[in-house]
Parts: sequence; structure tokens; C-alpha cells
Amino acid sequence: LITMEDVFKKYTLAGETLNALDGITLTVNKGDFMAIIGPSGSGKSTLMNVLGCLDTPTSGKYMLDGAEVGKLSDNKLANIRNNKIGFIFQSFHLLPRLRAIENVELPLVYRGMSGRERRALAKEALEKVGLGERMYHVPNQLSGGQQQRVAIARALAGRPPLLLADEPTGALDSKTSRDVIGLLKELNAEGNTIVLITHDPKVAEQAQRVVRIQDGKLTEERSVAS
Ligand code: ATP
Ligand code: MG
Repeated sequence: LITMEDVFKKYTLAGETLNALDGITLTVNKGDFMAIIGPSGSGKSTLMNVLGCLDTPTSGKYMLDGAEVGKLSDNKLANIRNNKIGFIFQSFHLLPRLRAIENVELPLVYRGMSGRERRALAKEALEKVGLGERMYHVPNQLSGGQQQRVAIARALAGRPPLLLADEPTGALDSKTSRDVIGLLKELNAEGNTIVLITHDPKVAEQAQRVVRIQDGKLTEERSVAS
């Protein structure tokens, strides 16, 4: 699903060049549940941005589901983001005035889907994350864990080939965070491909594969067949 070959992301500040990504080579297969773990400043967010087509590499090759991302126009990149990737963030990013179901439908609007089709997919996704009874609540009527479930439903609803999660448990207490990771594991067992970025070893150990990033370089730490 994903291959990266010798990907660099360079930042130049005051004449100094920093390789935030320093020759990343990575393969993610369909059905993988991979965690990327690393300390602050190691390049996690930079890698997430490149994986998520929010930014392009300075050099190297990034292929996502058959498309070479580095070569695309902004328009095409936006298209890939809308169609191929479901994003889950630390701070949920739900719109406060919209009901859960409307939040989940929102990315589908950008795909030009009919209202009826959107509603059906959003309902299904909310039921899948266990929020069938909370579809018409607005975010501040939901707990943090429930809000993150809405965000996960939103990521899932369009059935993208890749779910990309950036510190999805960073804002949650440890019990709620275990529940959310449990949900991601279930979704993976149903065939969803998940790449999760975290600095928390407890979260990373729940994934099938763990890859460590340090100073912009990757090393595979553990890979289990399960
Ligand atoms: P954290 O866990 O603190 O979020 P991170 O692993 O996500 O850290 P990145 O945000 O990817 O780290 O940053 C990697 C390196 O690139 C850091 O040294 C950072 O200062 C640098 N960096 C990131 N973005 C830019 C930018 N736009 N311009 C210049 N340097 C940058
Ligand atoms: Mg970061």
C-alpha cells in the first residue's frame, strides 16, 4: 500500500540545513497495523505529514496505493487526502456546532456524495465505533473518549485504504486510551490498514509492527505475525 524509498525532508533555517527525514525507506502492506515511535523532535510529525500527503518529500520516492505522491499537483494531493486517507488526530478536531453524525459526514461532502449516501455511511461508521446511541449529540455532550470515537468514525466512513493516526490517545486518560487502541485493533482485525504515530511505548506495543524514528532515520524494532 505504501512504499518510501530514500525519502528526505530538509528544512533550511538561517543557512543551516536539517534533515528532518534522513533517508527513510519503509513498506506498509495492506492490513498492517504499524506504530511509529520516537522522541520529541525525531521527525514523527514530519513523517506523518508526508505520509498523509500534507507535505511532499524534498527528495526520494513515496508511492501510496499506486500513485507517486511527490510528483502530484496540490489539487491531486488534496484528492488523495480525501479519498485514500482517514486522519485521526490527538485533539480530535471535531466541529463543535455539528452533531456527531454531521461531523462524520463532512469529509464525504468533499467527495461529492449525495446526502443520503453520506448519512448511510456515517451511521454505519458510528455504529461500528459503538456510538449508535449518540449520533445526534454535539461534541461537548460527549466524553473525550467518545469524541475520539466520533473522529475515528469520521476517518473510517469513506472506507479509505489507509488510516493515519497522530498521537490518537495523547489527550485521553489511560483507561480511555486503552479502549481507543482496542477499537483500532478491532478495526485492523477487520482489514483496515493503520499507521499510528506515538511517543508512548505502551501504545506502540499494541501494534503488529513497531518502527522507531530517531533523528529522521527509521529502524524496525519488532514485527509480529498475528
Ligand atoms: P514531537 O514529538 O515534539 O511532536 P516530532 O517527532 O513530531 O516531535 P517534528 O515536528 O517532525 O518532530 O520535527 C523534526 C525536526 O524538524 C525538529 O528538529 C524540528 O525542529 C524540525 N522542523 C519541523 N518543522 C520544521 C519547519 N517547518 N522548519 C524548520 N524546521 C522544522
Ligand atoms: Mg510531532
